[in-house]
Amino acid sequence: MSTTAPQLLNYVGGEFLATEQTFPNISPIDGRLLSQVCEADEALVGRAVSAAKAAQTGPWGRTSASERADVLMRIAVGIESRFEEFVAAEVADTGRPVEQARRLDIARGVHNFRTFAELIRQSGGDYFEMRAPDGSDVFSYSVRKPHGVVAIISPWNLPMLLLTWKVAPALACGNSVVIKPSEESPSTATLLTEVIHDAGLPEGVFNLIHGFGPGSAGEFLTKHPDVDAITFTGESRTGSEIMKVAAEGVRDVSFELGGKNAAVVFADCDFEAAVAGVARSSFTNAGQVCLCSERVYVERPIFERFVAALKEKAEGLKIGYPDEPGVDMGSMISRQHREKVLSYFELAREEGATVVTGGEVPTFGDARDQGAYVRPTIWTGLSDDARCVQEEVFGPVCHIAPFDREDEVIERVNNTIYGLATALWTQDLGRAHRVSRQFHVGMVWINTWFLRDLRTPFGGARLSGLGREGGRHSLDFYSELTTICVNP
Ligand code: NAD
Repeated sequence: MSTTAPQLLNYVGGEFLATEQTFPNISPIDGRLLSQVCEADEALVGRAVSAAKAAQTGPWGRTSASERADVLMRIAVGIESRFEEFVAAEVADTGRPVEQARRLDIARGVHNFRTFAELIRQSGGDYFEMRAPDGSDVFSYSVRKPHGVVAIISPWNLPMLLLTWKVAPALACGNSVVIKPSEESPSTATLLTEVIHDAGLPEGVFNLIHGFGPGSAGEFLTKHPDVDAITFTGESRTGSEIMKVAAEGVRDVSFELGGKNAAVVFADCDFEAAVAGVARSSFTNAGQVCLCSERVYVERPIFERFVAALKEKAEGLKIGYPDEPGVDMGSMISRQHREKVLSYFELAREEGATVVTGGEVPTFGDARDQGAYVRPTIWTGLSDDARCVQEEVFGPVCHIAPFDREDEVIERVNNTIYGLATALWTQDLGRAHRVSRQFHVGMVWINTWFLRDLRTPFGGARLSGLGREGGRHSLDFYSELTTICVNP
């Protein structure tokens, strides 16, 4: 393996820093070495947190909301000026189609900074008047202040989108941040750091540390006593570990965690739209979106027709190199993750599933055979309590089951430890509203999927998360509110 690959550095107190300890960043497209990533040890993580803490007492701590909004706008422009570099980095790390990286990942990165710049400019506090027992008219108002140091820990599935979703509001509210991107997708976080460095933030306001979770940068960061709040996106099990650590010092946490989302298709749906929508919600990003539908419930009269139509869609998806014309699906994030997905393909057979399509690794006869691809896969015939219907696979796979009644399908959709999102396909809007509010989830999409207005609350119920981010909900999480009561 070449040792001349570029190094991805940490960024602490305004300086880019190498470390002796490095780990390889391998592309899942073809197994090639992309870079060597400098892993932060406990001392360097400590320096990052100290720099972030010190920045709170410097000029950043005295900025107005409007000044911070200007900084966010400069970052948005900075990303745009290097847009294609971000696209190339995201694609190389993750294997996704170039068009997706352009349209979704990097575009949303820019949009996140613009949205929170606007929101912080317009945000106000509470104001209430009250007659006190002594007859005087008192009033109370609240002011928004930063927590201080916020730790941001992000996953690999939508690296730029999910990281900026947290960095933008955290900075908008005046915090200093230490980010720890996923070890699987460190490149766009490093580019973002360069953009933020060039945007001229005071040193220590933004820090990047690379590394893994347990026994590495992730754990060193979350357990550091000077971290005031932790925002995390990733697996539910990791969220639970971080919550235990955050209990020490009663630090604030916001968690966006795993899911086992359902799509529900009623017989009165627009059939073609529902098939296309479920194909999207099951196979987008090779099924590696927390919101993807891995359980599909279809009303019995259209069940056979729906399974056949989704099979045709799945088999029509073009798997390939990210820049191939017309490519729909790239690789999984890594060989290791593909092993996990393949283990579920095996388990599904053991549990008695009918494999309608897929369930295997494609062969290409070229460098992609060193990559991490799988075929889009559809199962039928499993019971609702099968492990493959209960556990998050996080791959391009769904199980389709028939249902007969509205109350029955609501109960079956809710029969999970998770509660992130549901997609509903029906033309009966009365039913759509009635049913939607009965799902124990953070989000319901009716006749669409993954369409986000960033002002709305986003998050999960049950094991899918804790708290909500988005719009003023983000501003509330990333702020301390102080209430001031005045007896004039
Ligand atoms: P993961 O939990 O393995 O890792 C996420 C991040 O946490 C990484 O940066 C990792 O290094 C770090 N980490 C791991 N263990 C840690 C520890 N003990 N202490 C501190 N940091 C630690 O998750 P992943 O595999 O990267 O991401 C996939 C998961 O994320 C899926 O379950 C998916 O559903 C979920 N996800 C949820 C949302 C949402 O909005 N709800 C969005 C995207 C992904």
